[in-house]
Amino acid sequence: MPGLVTILVGNNPASVSYVTGKQNTAHELNFYSLQDNQPEDITEQKLLEIINTYNKDPKIHGILVQLPLPRHIDEKKILNAIDPDKDVDGFHPINVGRLMIGGKEAKYLPCTPAGIQQLIVRSGVPVEGAEVVVVGRSNIVGKPIANILLQKAPGANATVTIAHTATKDLAGHCRRADILIVAAGVPGLVKPEWIKPGACVIDVGVNRVGEKISEKTGKKIAILRGDVDFDAAKEIAGFITPVPGGVGPMTITMLMANTVKAAKSAAGIE
Ligand code: NAD
Repeated sequence: MPGLVTILVGNNPASVSYVTGKQNTAHELNFYSLQDNQPEDITEQKLLEIINTYNKDPKIHGILVQLPLPRHIDEKKILNAIDPDKDVDGFHPINVGRLMIGGKEAKYLPCTPAGIQQLIVRSGVPVEGAEVVVVGRSNIVGKPIANILLQKAPGANATVTIAHTATKDLAGHCRRADILIVAAGVPGLVKPEWIKPGACVIDVGVNRVGEKISEKTGKKIAILRGDVDFDAAKEIAGFITPVPGGVGPMTITMLMANTVKAAKSAAGIE
């Protein structure tokens, strides 16, 4: 049975909602799943000890530490402490290096970029030779999705440009993209007129722009917006992901896929 532990430090509302989504899916799939909540003021040493316990636990195949961590904890140290074979988030330097090398080396692709690739490929959008523009260069989205799509491999082999805060003429780069992946965390950054007609637009941004009362539960919930104005952009784009409901669910799906992979690998099946 695949085993997944999600470790949450503190109670940042966005992080709580992310780990809840991951745990709910793991339960639905009948995984052995654990939610490990730790207080905001946990020491780095204590968190390292907890990770080490899960590293040794044969029932656990995947360990996910929900980011961001409080400032007094060194995020890199924590990610480096996860056994690379249980690193289902794909953030350990060994897995980042394997992704960079490509081919069979790549064991766990980070979940958000892996989900983005699946969304594109399964929508029938040609990737080989396509002009891909990625807006954002973070270690969790921008850099890995660029690396995945430039590999000489099926569902990749694209010409990739990474744009960021120092990019001159962001609009010009976006306009020539056959596949535009936006992961900046700036609501409405990409204007509809920057989109090439028929392009595939992947909006990774999740921006909390206010609060509203949920019609379903009567509780206060966040109003979420992407980095692209969906209603205007959908008239121009050939394909576009909504926020919420596009990249987010795929991120969870790929986490589950990585956990199954880890469990099979531990059982010597793959
Ligand atoms: P980040 O803040 O680490 O990185 C943002 C990147 O965007 C930076 O590299 C920066 O250079 C670039 N950027 C910011 N403003 C820009 C501008 N005006 N012009 C050009 N480039 C600009 O963010 P991140 O962790 O990569 O996340 C990006 C967004 O994606 C956030 O809204 C985050 O919530 C969302 N996200 C969603 C998922 C999901 O599963 N749906 C997963 C991860 C992140």
